Amino acid sequence: MDCIFCKIANGEIPTNKVYEDDKIIAFNDLEPKAPVHVLIIPKEHICCADELNEENSAIVGYIFSKIPVIAKELSLDGYRVVNNCKENGGQTVFHLHFHLLGGTKLSGDFA
Ligand code: 5GP
Ligand code: ZN
Repeated sequence: MDCIFCKIANGEIPTNKVYEDDKIIAFNDLEPKAPVHVLIIPKEHICCADELNEENSAIVGYIFSKIPVIAKELSLDGYRVVNNCKENGGQTVFHLHFHLLGGTKLSGDFA
């Protein structure tokens, strides 16, 4: 499967990592929409939030358990977490990801 985030997750495409463990990786967005704009993805390929179910959704809780760790590493005092789901939700890369945005007082539309 030709998925750019799978290639980032498996190291095929080098990226500017801010966090990594055996299950997830967080890296800087290529086109940041805020002073801090990090993408957090599961290493496992899941297309989008609409593909989550009882079998595969534990990773979402895991990601949210690491968001405070990542936010602390980035010295974020308040932030926004965004998920765009499928084309009509604004999703452009079809590998589940959460945008972590911060570094300023956020308002309006981001990511
Ligand atoms: P979406 O629109 O799917 O919610 O978000 C996809 C995000 O991935 C966009 O913010 C876009 O800038 C970012 N992006 C797309 N391709 C790459 C890439 O190759 N590397 C990185 N670091 N970010 C990417
Ligand atoms: Zn993928």
